[in-house]
Amino acid sequence: MFNVKRPQELPEQLKGKKYGHPEVVNEINKIFYRKCYLCEQLIASPEVEHFEPQAKNKNLIHTWTNLFLGCSHCNKIKSTKHTNLLDCSDTNTDVQQAIRLEPPNTLKGKVKVVDMLNCDKSNNTAKLLEDCYNLKDTGVRQIHNENMLDDIWDKFAIYMEHRNKAVSQRSTPNERKDALAAILEMADPNYEYSAFWYWQLQDDRKLLDLKKRLEDEVVG
Ligand SMILES: [Zn+2]
Repeated sequence: MFNVKRPQELPEQLKGKKYGHPEVVNEINKIFYRKCYLCEQLIASPEVEHFEPQAKNKNLIHTWTNLFLGCSHCNKIKSTKHTNLLDCSDTNTDVQQAIRLEPPNTLKGKVKVVDMLNCDKSNNTAKLLEDCYNLKDTGVRQIHNENMLDDIWDKFAIYMEHRNKAVSQRSTPNERKDALAAILEMADPNYEYSAFWYWQLQDDRKLLDLKKRLEDEVVG
């Protein structure tokens, strides 16, 4: 998961417009970096998702802070069943830190989802993400899962190329610096599946040492 910076109120020029209005959708699309707030894939056909289900409270249909960007796959899985979740637009919650994600090693494997906060909200969110990434209970979801894994592995290969460049003895200082910058860019919310790359980096002592060394050089 990734955090987004949402203005607390709907921008002035959009006030009075309904949630499906193209300008409102466009604003949400920008705020969420064009990614599904649950699975983090870049969405070709975005849906405006109601964080608190609109079926339970009609007042929330057009409430600005209740509008999220989701993909149809995750939206259907979440439906009205999954509630009391981590809010990625809440500035007091670091959702990237709250849920650890690891890509699977094989096609039959699963995305590993770990609740790092151990509270009700993080626990509920981890369960929902577990389904979003791994549920294969229908033919359509099987195909979705295969395509998503291809996508994650493709980015993982890019990550590893940068990673190897950053730690290789053959690399020049500038190549190491550029490779680390590319990795930090991948761990940034605007990149697809950023939480996966953030957690890869947290596990990597060599990369973290290099990051610290380069930061010290700048300060020194
Ligand atoms: Zn999704």
